[in-house]
Amino acid sequence: MGIKGFFFRPVVESMEGYVPGEQPQDRRYIKLNTNENPYPPSPRVLEALRRAVTDDLRLYPDPVATELRQKAAERYGVLPDQVIAGNGSDDLLSMLFRACVDPNGPGQVAYAVPTYVLYDTLATLQGVAPKTAPYAADFTFPAQALLAFEARLTIVCNPNSPSGTLTPVSTIERFARQSRGLVVVDEAYVDFARETALSLLATCPNVVVLRTFSKSFSLAGMRVGLGFGSADVIRELHKVKDSYNLDRLSLVAARAALDDYAWMEANVAKVRASREELTTELRNLGFDVLPSESNFLFAKSSQQSAADLYVKLKELGILVRYFPAAALRDGLRITVGTPEENHALISALRSLMKR
Ligand SMILES: *Cc1c(COP(=O)(O)O)cnc(C)c1O
Repeated sequence: MGIKGFFFRPVVESMEGYVPGEQPQDRRYIKLNTNENPYPPSPRVLEALRRAVTDDLRLYPDPVATELRQKAAERYGVLPDQVIAGNGSDDLLSMLFRACVDPNGPGQVAYAVPTYVLYDTLATLQGVAPKTAPYAADFTFPAQALLAFEARLTIVCNPNSPSGTLTPVSTIERFARQSRGLVVVDEAYVDFARETALSLLATCPNVVVLRTFSKSFSLAGMRVGLGFGSADVIRELHKVKDSYNLDRLSLVAARAALDDYAWMEANVAKVRASREELTTELRNLGFDVLPSESNFLFAKSSQQSAADLYVKLKELGILVRYFPAAALRDGLRITVGTPEENHALISALRSLMKR
């Protein structure tokens, strides 16, 4: 082909590329593999979207999402200048890496592992090897090891994926006060948890909090995320974003979703109740389940290989997430579904465990 070494940067040629969880298009599975919400988005979101499908689609969207940022600022108790909108929070992560991580500077990025694998991909793309410190076996946050890296950007996924565990906000606060760099708290799952780091924005100018509409708001298909930080930090991030990163429909959907906050909260309450039930049932089947503050569980079986269970569940029409990485390959990450989906999972596992 002759393109090797000529068209692309070496890091791009040699990297794998991020592999998202399976999104099969061939058949309908009970889909417990990518932490989507099992309940539909608010009817008010769907109605607002229908009304927005007009000739106005010929016009560009608001490049800085003014109305959405105003609404979010009111909802979360900050100023609009402290908010940036992203095409999913993956887009916000990408902006942060582009803005902060530089192979020629002191531009290290640090985080505790195992965690969200996209961080590795984004670091590699910037030409930087991430500095990582392992979580303890019970997923206690390795604050001292991370502080020693003196990174320009430290990411704390909280609740963490794929463990589902939560680092107390008081721990993150102490960590941020001792860090010179930015501390990004990726709160993709925080609506399912008992506390958020948003309160730190008032006292820690180096904290950035990322939220997404993909999980608690049931809008993974719309691609909307929000970033919160000091006005100075948010201004710099606006410089590196794509000009029209959210389309007109996404902006409409996100605003309507914030207007029907109670809908999200009701779905979150159902998921949390199911999470506790599912934890108990998995433990009764002999699984070791980490305490989860998210909408998924990380479960290990000492009797059966996780890789095997993943394959057999898939044959039975149930998709869960299996990570082949050494630190994770003895477990499965299971999204909490509806009560019916969870029962289907439990009966499938019961039959597989007997064999
Ligand atoms: C799902 C997820 C995101 C981002 O999701 P978007 O759909 O891009 O908003 C970010 N971080 C973590 C840890 C996630 O699980």
